[in-house]
Amino acid sequence: MSDLRDLYQEVILDHNRSPRNFGALEDADAQADGHNPLCGDRLSVAVKLDDGVVTDLRFEGSGCAISKASASLMTEEVKGKTLDETLALFERFHKLVTAHSDSHVDGDTDLGKLAVFAGVRDYPARVKCAVLAWHTLRAAVDGHHDVVSTE
Ligand code: ZN
Repeated sequence: MSDLRDLYQEVILDHNRSPRNFGALEDADAQADGHNPLCGDRLSVAVKLDDGVVTDLRFEGSGCAISKASASLMTEEVKGKTLDETLALFERFHKLVTAHSDSHVDGDTDLGKLAVFAGVRDYPARVKCAVLAWHTLRAAVDGHHDVVSTE
């Protein structure tokens, strides 16, 4: 299990160092800003939509390693998915990071690389860092253009 933890840690550090899909998105169809006041993370997520499919998305901002890595991995997982699939994935990701430690959500293999955030549940203060990008993405596709807060 500690090997797995090391691997997870490695993926998070890698995405923090070299975030994927980071920067401005030209001609975005929807955009929202997210703020996690507890940690000071600020992210902006922009998406391109085509017939209910997220064809492209990028994020900008600054925050801790967890918030940046989560946003980076989110953009990789969500690209090409429908909005329904995206919101369903958010539900499951949310369950993963908030599940009680002795539950067996770890077996949710469909989460792919997002499973690296399973360890976050042991640090309740970091859960909001992990879900910030997702809340912001949801706000963007819901058509809310106000700043969302995890509070
Ligand atoms: Zn944070």
